Amino acid sequence: MGVAIVTGASRGIGRGIAVALGAEGWRVAVNYAGNLAAAGECVELVKRAGGDAIAIQGDISQCDDRARIDAQAAHWGGRIDLLVNNAGIAPAVRADLLDADESSFDRLLAVNLKGPYFLSQLVARRMIAHPLDAAGSRGQIVNISSISAYAASTDRGDYCIAKAGIGMMTSLYATRLAEHQIRVYEIRPGVIATDMTGAVRSKYDALIGAGLTPIRRWGQPEDVARAVVAIARGDLPFSTGEVINVDGGFHLRTL
Ligand code: NAP
Repeated sequence: MGVAIVTGASRGIGRGIAVALGAEGWRVAVNYAGNLAAAGECVELVKRAGGDAIAIQGDISQCDDRARIDAQAAHWGGRIDLLVNNAGIAPAVRADLLDADESSFDRLLAVNLKGPYFLSQLVARRMIAHPLDAAGSRGQIVNISSISAYAASTDRGDYCIAKAGIGMMTSLYATRLAEHQIRVYEIRPGVIATDMTGAVRSKYDALIGAGLTPIRRWGQPEDVARAVVAIARGDLPFSTGEVINVDGGFHLRTL
């Protein structure tokens, strides 16, 4: 198996992805922003699952930090076969579209869109220089967006815009990197039980109970992780730029 960077892997969906990759024998660079203890726990879980891991601190919204994450992971792993752009934040305050301020917009776009956009640029340049692996690939990139890429929530427009941007970013990198045998995918999770959704748990309990999703349960980080593992294994060799919904069927329109 190969070497992966998973951003925001100390907690939540990123941790689920890191541990699932570990169980497949991957070596995982566990990026985190500030929660060293949680990152250390994740490293232990990846190792216990059968993989290897290192914790790498870095704020993906910062240019210098992105360079350090890329360089440290490559130094440790020798090469990078998989980048999972998972790290993301919710708005500090959910504010109506007509009231929301620019500081929240700037922070959200910096972490949720600019960070993955330019980290992908760095890692893609590195992958292009790789020799082909046994499966004829130079690497893969997975972007974790959200149902918010297309579902309008007027109390968090900044988050929706950032996730919609990840959709175009996926198309752009998939198009540009195909000639280099690097495939790019977007995973759109629905409502997943993590710290991010902790503050709105009872709201979503009620919505799911009332039929928000055809599959009437919360998603778990492991649900997203299983989709990443399928990609990591190389099971989608003739697909790139593909959107994979991991949302309990939320995206289905019914009449
Ligand atoms: P979470 O539980 O809040 O965890 C966020 C993770 O991102 C943590 O590991 C955190 O590190 C890291 N992080 C935050 N800001 C960062 C930065 N600037 N640089 C590097 N790492 C940073 O979130 P989650 O629910 O797992 O969400 C993960 C991704 O899935 C996000 O992109 C989110 O938008 C997306 N998503 C989530 C849901 C959902 O329902 N939960 C649904 C759709 C999409 P520290 O531990 O150091 O703070």
